Amino acid sequence: MVASRVARILAPNPSPMTLEGSNTYLIDAGDFAVVIDPGPPIDRHVDAIVEAARDRGLAIGAILVTHGHPDHAPAAAPLAARTGAPVYAHARASFPHDRTWADGRRLRFGELELIALDTPGHAVDHLAFGMEEEGALFAGDVIVGRGTVVVAPPFGDMRAYQATLGRLQDNYASARTIYGGHGEAVDDPRAKIAEYIAHRAAREGQVLSALAERPSTVPDLVERIYRDTPAVLWPAAARQVLAHLIALESEGRVVTRTLAREPDAREAAILNPDLSRLADPSLASVAAAELGFDRAVERIVVYEPAP
Ligand SMILES: [Zn+2]
Repeated sequence: MVASRVARILAPNPSPMTLEGSNTYLIDAGDFAVVIDPGPPIDRHVDAIVEAARDRGLAIGAILVTHGHPDHAPAAAPLAARTGAPVYAHARASFPHDRTWADGRRLRFGELELIALDTPGHAVDHLAFGMEEEGALFAGDVIVGRGTVVVAPPFGDMRAYQATLGRLQDNYASARTIYGGHGEAVDDPRAKIAEYIAHRAAREGQVLSALAERPSTVPDLVERIYRDTPAVLWPAAARQVLAHLIALESEGRVVTRTLAREPDAREAAILNPDLSRLADPSLASVAAAELGFDRAVERIVVYEPAP
């Protein structure tokens, strides 16, 4: 068996959003190393990436970023400054980068050939990277080692995410390994992708059957669908429910009515959680980006099946 070219460097940013922390991958390209997702802007993590390359006798020659969230992209700039390596990103990326990489394009890095896949849904600027030689897919936050990923409006799009999963199922179900943005590597891609697809379909089914019982608000749906989930996770759940509702509304399957009132305290706890109360301010920015809390909900909306 040939040793893997891939090493994982775990960033020291564990949280409910990031599992044990963000995964940075260092790939041995022969004469140099390629880094995927430098991670959060933590100096000792940047040091750890540089040292991991040096331990292998390699300089860092390219930096690839799956998407712009604050737990994946910000260390690209300091790592590029230290190594001189160019940063590759999605054409829609808003963080500093040197080169963009279009869907389906293959690039050669030393002994490696990587293909970029436009994989929107979790984020609009999301790329995954395929490495056919090792049967590997670097999936960023499309597929993670444990649990599911957040698909939260306004930057997350449920139908785009489901289309991305379908594309991965068509093209990467026979991959050997999925290296996600968080958690351990996935060694059964076919089952994992199928599980992810089924999970979203099941949730949408729950939303539709709850609406068939009675017109409902997002907090009402969350309290019914996620009754067995700890209430601390309900704000995240609300963003997933909203993503399904937006998709259903755009397809004409659900209609909405906006009430002339603000959320009450119970609803506000779910719709407008106070992220500043999180212990670590950097965690609040990760949570806000991941969960799409770009502004507070000011009016309660009722959803019901289209007539
Ligand atoms: Zn993310």
